[in-house]
Amino acid sequence: MSASTPGSSAGTAPENVVIIGSGPAAWTAAIYAARANLRPLVFEGEPVGTELPGGQLMLTTDIENFPGFPEPLSGPELMERMKAQAVHHGTRVVSELVKEVRLGERPFTVVPNYSEAVQAHTIIVATGAAAKWIGLPNEQRLATTGGGVSACAVCDGAMPFYRNKRLVVVGGGDTAMEETLYLTKFASEVVVVHRRDSFRASKVMAQRVLSHPKVRVIWNSRVTDVLGDDFITGVRLEDTVTGATSELEVGGLFVAIGHTPNTRFLNGQLSTTEHGYVQVTPGRTATTVDGVFAAGDVIDDYYRQAITSAGTGCMAALEAERWLAHHGIEDSAATTEATNTEAASAVAVSTT
Ligand SMILES: Cc1cc2nc3c(=O)[nH]c(=O)nc-3n(C[C@H](O)[C@H](O)[C@H](O)COP(=O)(O)OP(=O)(O)OC[C@H]3O[C@@H](n4cnc5c(N)ncnc54)[C@H](O)[C@@H]3O)c2cc1C
Repeated sequence: MSASTPGSSAGTAPENVVIIGSGPAAWTAAIYAARANLRPLVFEGEPVGTELPGGQLMLTTDIENFPGFPEPLSGPELMERMKAQAVHHGTRVVSELVKEVRLGERPFTVVPNYSEAVQAHTIIVATGAAAKWIGLPNEQRLATTGGGVSACAVCDGAMPFYRNKRLVVVGGGDTAMEETLYLTKFASEVVVVHRRDSFRASKVMAQRVLSHPKVRVIWNSRVTDVLGDDFITGVRLEDTVTGATSELEVGGLFVAIGHTPNTRFLNGQLSTTEHGYVQVTPGRTATTVDGVFAAGDVIDDYYRQAITSAGTGCMAALEAERWLAHHGIEDSAATTEATNTEAASAVAVSTT
């Protein structure tokens, strides 16, 4: 971005709304804010390891549960369409990660990795969460190619290729228990592999898993490799007590060892829950700093779905719009022919 970018700290007017992130929450917020004539500016992030602009769905081959798409479509395709819709309505996009925000003074300051800092009246944090993986090369390879390795049973478990197969769940917390019970609807057997000799999950959940006729638990074990060329055929296990190794034939692997919300750049300026998710007013997207809103998986350790993220993204944009109106700022957002042209060129520059 050049020094003349609207809202930059070079002395131009602050942005009405800066949206940080690029999953379903961010693009939905952008669509709503753009249609409300707020000319949102989105920082969509950059590729870092398996984290890509576009969010978690960039790692998914088929999405069958996003309403409006009776034929399965790929995660990258869905995200491309959401972004295109936001841009079509006037959203400007910068392909950089935000490394810092300063929320102590108004307008707020948003500092991206390379370009100039931007000032903003309101901010929507939609940076999502990263699923934790075991960290095995073959696990990553098969997870990114639709090869039967997933970090979301509710998302992927109903796919035809998992039906009537033996599936493995790795984990021992409540999420692992939920994923296990969900998979019993489709699998011939669900094997839970846990590195300790008892579950960390709540007693009720653990008991439901342990008493389920389709579930078997392999205690004190960890997965050390994932077998199979194009699709998983098995996992290699190591006993954490004896060190003995074995192989188990399986038709799918579900890793359920938790998520990490992407909040580091906030540097503790927003209150978080005990699990590190951004804290919002119940039923709303308002954070503990007035004028800063948060949406998507970064506030949600319970539903974690594209549609729920899109829903809270919509809420955040509506709340930002009302915040601006309440503070009498909405008129400064009125677009002119000139600023529309400027917006279009910012998109062209930043998305190449
Ligand atoms: C393997 C897998 C399969 C899934 N399949 C489905 C499915 O079929 N259906 C479904 O509904 N859900 C599915 N989900 C869940 C779904 O992907 C998430 O619920 C959803 O993507 C969360 O959206 P979000 O907008 O909160 O952010 P995310 O999708 O988490 O994206 C946020 C993105 O913001 C960007 N970002 C992060 N930090 C910064 C920063 N500092 N500055 C700028 N940008 C930043 C990054 O690119 C990050 O990836 C799946 C999840 C996984 C892991």
